[in-house]
Amino acid sequence: MLCFAEGSFGLQLTILDYMRQRVEADGPMALSEVMKCTLTHPCFGYYATRNPLGALGDFVTAPEISQMFGELIGLWAVVSWQQIGSPRRFNFIELGPGSGMMMNDALRASQLVPDFHVALDLHLVEASLALRKIQKNSLAGYAPTWHNDVYSLPCGPSIIIANEFFDAMPITQLVRGSLGWHERRLSFDQQTKMPIWTVMAETSHLASLLHPKVLTTGQVGEIAEVSSFSLSIADALARRLVSEGGVALVIDYGYCNSALGDTLQAVKKHKFVDVLENLGQSDLTAHVDFAALSAAVNKAGAIAYGPITQSAFLLSLGIIQRTYNLMKKSNYKQARSIEAAMVRLIDSKAMGSLFKVSAWSGREVNLLPGL
Ligand code: SAH
Repeated sequence: MLCFAEGSFGLQLTILDYMRQRVEADGPMALSEVMKCTLTHPCFGYYATRNPLGALGDFVTAPEISQMFGELIGLWAVVSWQQIGSPRRFNFIELGPGSGMMMNDALRASQLVPDFHVALDLHLVEASLALRKIQKNSLAGYAPTWHNDVYSLPCGPSIIIANEFFDAMPITQLVRGSLGWHERRLSFDQQTKMPIWTVMAETSHLASLLHPKVLTTGQVGEIAEVSSFSLSIADALARRLVSEGGVALVIDYGYCNSALGDTLQAVKKHKFVDVLENLGQSDLTAHVDFAALSAAVNKAGAIAYGPITQSAFLLSLGIIQRTYNLMKKSNYKQARSIEAAMVRLIDSKAMGSLFKVSAWSGREVNLLPGL
């Protein structure tokens, strides 16, 4: 694809120029398109053009905070593999691996069970070519295969892990009007040419995807969100788990019960920033509706466990013991930072309660410690 699209005066197009042209041609842009374009467009997309993770980037995720996070997930994966009958070949799949840190830690920890390693084929679902390069380095030696989306994954039993993947999936926002729900889209101000929100006059058919309680509540002006992208991914994964066998672990910030509210957020340099002022230059995400994901998984015939809090999940996997083991082998300064990282992962004032964990399975198994 030609990435340096030229405008009529030979100038390089910016993401705003590109979106303005699309709006001029097709009318206001759906929020799901805005997210798709600003996050994963191969030329302009936020993920496509940088590594946003880590202290020098825009945000820090749990695997970047502590090696213990990925290690415990690796052990969870080994136990889950045993629970599904220790298949001699299986797909170990990560959705949106970022820097590859979590998978790297998980694979190192799971070396405790060599048969798990012999059996696994590593598959990564990653839209960003920039991040694929980083993953290639961090996972050198494991020969991963990359996929653009979950729909091209190979057959066979799978163990799937996803941390902070679903929050990046495009959403639709619906605004309650006196007669129904109307889609909120992106437009451009005629005078300033800057992006603005606009509410469509007609009612939206997407309201049928809202939870019945949300659909029938809400004062005029209130916002509800739905991610048909996430629902379709959950459906595809659940069908795969039912027909091919396997389990999935989904960790993300979000809410247990579908609710009203605007959770769209932009983050840049570790701070919340204005969504419209930072299109393409900030991480644009929304809180995950775990109830909606579970409903999609159940509808496809699979079982959804949880969600439970990240804190309950990590505590029951033994994060305290792992912390003390690591601290014993460290000097004073390192030990304090290992302890501080553990607190950040489980403290309810930090990530402990906001982040939830859900597990999906094709058949009944004991997947979520802490339930
Ligand atoms: N799981 C990592 C990174 C989270 S950031 C961690 O916890 O550190 C979100 C990740 O999902 C990035 O790797 C991003 O490039 C990827 N991603 C975002 N949207 C995607 C999409 N539509 N398809 C595939 N990957 C996507």
